[in-house]
Amino acid sequence: MKYLAAVDIGGTKITASIANQSGFMGKVYQPARKEGDVKTIPRQVKYLVDRACQEAKIDPREIDTVGVSTCSPFEIRNNNRWVVAPNLCGGLARHRENRPPNDWTGIPLEEELKGYYKSVQIENDGVSAAVAERTFGAGEGEDNMVYVTWSTGIGAGAYVDGILIKGKNGNAPHLGHIYIAENGPQCGCGNYGDMEALTSGTAIARDYGEGKSAKDVFQLYRQGDKRAVEIVKRAARNFARGLASINALLDSKVFVLGGSIMKDDDIVMPMVKEEFYRSFSSLSKDTEFRMSELEGYLGDMAGLSLIMPGEWIQKWKEHEYWKDAASALKLSIEEH
Ligand SMILES: [Zn+2]
Repeated sequence: MKYLAAVDIGGTKITASIANQSGFMGKVYQPARKEGDVKTIPRQVKYLVDRACQEAKIDPREIDTVGVSTCSPFEIRNNNRWVVAPNLCGGLARHRENRPPNDWTGIPLEEELKGYYKSVQIENDGVSAAVAERTFGAGEGEDNMVYVTWSTGIGAGAYVDGILIKGKNGNAPHLGHIYIAENGPQCGCGNYGDMEALTSGTAIARDYGEGKSAKDVFQLYRQGDKRAVEIVKRAARNFARGLASINALLDSKVFVLGGSIMKDDDIVMPMVKEEFYRSFSSLSKDTEFRMSELEGYLGDMAGLSLIMPGEWIQKWKEHEYWKDAASALKLSIEEH
């Protein structure tokens, strides 16, 4: 195995990169295609891997192993993982404002990619980020760790006793959709009062209103804006309660935190810690928090970590090849 392909499927764009034992060789991205039949996105993934090969100056036939980090959830159909994410599938997004322009109720990602490649590993972005952080980042070597991204949404992946937990459909732990409050606001998933609906960047922006982004709200916080302070405090408190809940279930040692909200960690972390350690102390006192070390690199490293052969890992760790990955070539949506 000389070359590997890593793919990152988000709600708005898809990135493909090629790596070998000594780093990344080529990388391209394109807006996610949401019009066409249900095989549109698997075909786009194949196209982008081929284009990344072209950038890397290798023959696409050299690629037989692909690691995919994708938005989720999944459903198992025909023994394969289908992506049933409302931000890609219009048929699942009836309560959404920005409904994708299609009627898909699922994307046959795994079975289609298996038609192109010998080995295909697919996990959601939270789970694959957890694998990356445990292999190369802030969770290195930790057997009981949870990675959580606090961003426009909430994502997570968890190891318990050194085992990556997956569940029947590969959806464990969908932390953002645990219930926190009665009569809370509605989440993009349809739930009312779940962790994402109360604490995500989207929620922080919505609570402030006036067209402000979460980033603006933190700016206002720094200027002493009372409403911003209140909103951020409430979000941090509910976020910590979500973490305390998953800690009560999994008895974790380390939380690795990433995502855009963590850019303001000087504001939120003292609040999160205060609330977290206020929860049942026998369970919470031995748990620690660390910042993600791969933030900004997970687009490549999440998918790649799912498939990287053991004998490559030491060299990748030593040289931290993710830090000198070339910037990605942006392709227009017309190109296919
Ligand atoms: Zn939800």
